[in-house]
Amino acid sequence: MAITNEYLKGVLADVEKRNANEPEFIQAVTEVLETLQPVAEARPDLVEAGVFDRIVEPERQIIFRVPWVDDNGKVQVNRGFRVQFNSAIGPYKGGLRLHPSVYIGIIKFLGFEQIFKNSLTTLPMGGGKGGSDFDPKGKSDGEVMRFCQSFMTELSKHIGADTDVPAGDIGTGAREIGFMFGQYKRLRDEFTGVLTGKGLTYGGSLARTQATGYGLCYFTDEMLKANGKSFKGATVAISGSGNVAIYATEKATELGAKVVTVSDSNGYVYDPDGIDLDVVKQIKEVERGRIKEYVGRTSHKNATYTEGCKGVWTVKCDIALPCATQNEIDGESAKALAANGCYCVSEGANMPSTPDAIEVYFANKMLYGPAKAANAGGVATSGLEMSQNSERLSWTFEEVDGKLKGIMQNIFASCDSAAKEFGMEGNYMAGANIAGFLKVAEAMKAQGV
Ligand code: GLU
Repeated sequence: MAITNEYLKGVLADVEKRNANEPEFIQAVTEVLETLQPVAEARPDLVEAGVFDRIVEPERQIIFRVPWVDDNGKVQVNRGFRVQFNSAIGPYKGGLRLHPSVYIGIIKFLGFEQIFKNSLTTLPMGGGKGGSDFDPKGKSDGEVMRFCQSFMTELSKHIGADTDVPAGDIGTGAREIGFMFGQYKRLRDEFTGVLTGKGLTYGGSLARTQATGYGLCYFTDEMLKANGKSFKGATVAISGSGNVAIYATEKATELGAKVVTVSDSNGYVYDPDGIDLDVVKQIKEVERGRIKEYVGRTSHKNATYTEGCKGVWTVKCDIALPCATQNEIDGESAKALAANGCYCVSEGANMPSTPDAIEVYFANKMLYGPAKAANAGGVATSGLEMSQNSERLSWTFEEVDGKLKGIMQNIFASCDSAAKEFGMEGNYMAGANIAGFLKVAEAMKAQGV
C-alpha cells in the first residue's frame, strides 16, 4: 500500500530524513502512516493539531554508558537506551531488550509500536522501550547481575512508578527484572511498581509469565471464530522458544490445536506428534539451553532438528504464530506458508513480518493478526500488575487470566470495527493502527502542543 495522501507523504519524508540509518523504525512508521490515510482525510482537526507530525518523534531519548566487570575481572562497556516515546494517555510503558542487535533504531521501532499497542489495551499506559546491546547468552549469573545493576544505576534516574515503568522483552526475564528491581530499591529506597514482570514473592502478578502467549491465542481465537475457523484440529507452526512461544504453544494446544514446531536463532524442531512442552520448558526455562537438544530429550520418535531458523516456515501448517523476532518472515517465507495452505498468521513477536510478507498475506486472503494487537496481552497484564501494586493487593490467577481474555477479545472487536468504519473490512492491521492511534491522537489534541 503506497502513501498517496500528500500531507502524510511529507510526514514520512521528514521521518526518513531525520532517521536515515534506522530502517526498522522507518518500516514501523511507514506501515502505520499507510493505514492512517483515511483517518488523515476524515479528521482535518488532527492534522491541524500536528498530531501526525508529533507522534513520530519520541518525547525523549536517553543513551548511556553501562560499565561492568566480567568474571575475569575485565571491564566491559555496553550501551544502554530508554526511549520515552509518548505519554499522552499514561506513564511510558514498555520492555527492555537485551540483545547484541540493539541500537537506537530497534528501540525506537519498538517504542513506536508500543504507543498503539498500549492504547489498544484500553489501560492508561503511554509508549516507551529500552534495552542494551549486552548479550546475556553465555554469561554467568554474576555477570548478568553486575550488568543489570550498572544498567539500573543510570536508568533509575529516568523512571518511576508514575512516570515510566519498564518490563521484560527479549533477553530480559524474571532473573534480570529481579536484579534491576533490587538495584532500584537500593538506590531509591522505595518499594513500588516501578518495573513489571517481577517475581511473585515481591509484587509480581500471577499470569504475567503466560500473558503474551496466552493473549496471542485469545486474540487469534477471536479472529479465527469471526471468520468461521478455529484452533480445534488445526496444525500450528510456532517460531521461537522463549516465553512467548512456550505459552502460545501451551494455550494453542489447550484450545485443541497441534503445535508442530519451535525454534531458536540456530535452527528449528519439527515434531509431527505435537511439541513436548515439558521438554522445551526444561531446556529453555531451567537450563537456558539450545533448542537442538530437544530431539535427544523427548520420547517423540519422529521429531527432527534442522539448522537454520527460516526453515520453520516451510513446514505444512494451518496457522503460523511467529514468536521469535522482527522481520523473521520475509516475502519468500510468506509465499511458502501460503503455498502450504496456511490461512492465518498472527504475531507474537514485534514486527515479525516484512512489508513483502504482509503483501503476500493480503494477496492470498490469509487472516493476519498484527503484533500490536495480537501480542498486547503481555503489556496488558503488566498494566494489571501496576494496578495490583498500586492497591497493594494481588489477584488470583483466574482473575488476571479472565481480565486478560476480556482485554484480548475487546482488542479484536476494536480492530474489526475500526477497519469496517474506515472501509477496510477484514484488514486487522489497519484496524489496529487506526483504533490505537485515535485514542492517543484525541489525548494529544486535548492536551495542546
Ligand atoms: N516487551 C513486551 C511488549 O513488547 C511487554 C512490555 C511490558 O510489559 O511493558 O509488549
